[in-house]
Amino acid sequence: MPSYVILEKCDGCKALDKTACQYICPNDLMVLNKDTMKAYNRDPQMCWECYNCVKICPVDAIEVRGYADFVPMGASVTPMRGTDSIMWTIKFRNGQLKRFKFPIRTTPEGSVVPDGGWSTGSDDLSSNVLFTEPDSLGLPEVVTK
Ligand code: SF4
Ligand code: SF4
Repeated sequence: MPSYVILEKCDGCKALDKTACQYICPNDLMVLNKDTMKAYNRDPQMCWECYNCVKICPVDAIEVRGYADFVPMGASVTPMRGTDSIMWTIKFRNGQLKRFKFPIRTTPEGSVVPDGGWSTGSDDLSSNVLFTEPDSLGLPEVVTK
């Protein structure tokens, strides 16, 4: 189920040009109401429940209701991000708490190379060739027809 903003907690990222949730959403769903300085999900049906906005919000103002396929209905799922791990807190509707800690990266924070070190291919957005192809495929060229 889609993300939603807890208005009492949201501070509009203190009026920065682009809020953290706007910056991180891969589907460009989060927007800031400039009158109230509160963010909201403008198209909940398009939300992938990826939790990116939940993880990045500096004041824990965004939540996603977990689907019954990974937590029982009525439970809340709260991630707390660290530099090398993430702690997931599950609160069941009977009040029981469970916590799970998982590593989130194998390289130091800030050291990821976006293109993976491969040379990048065409700048043509309508091309069928992906970002690092053909280099990352180990081929001299990608046949697209
Ligand atoms: S859960 Fe993911 S897709 Fe949904 S609004 Fe947040 S960042 Fe965007
Ligand atoms: S990241 Fe959090 S505090 Fe910032 S605008 Fe979004 S919901 Fe509000």
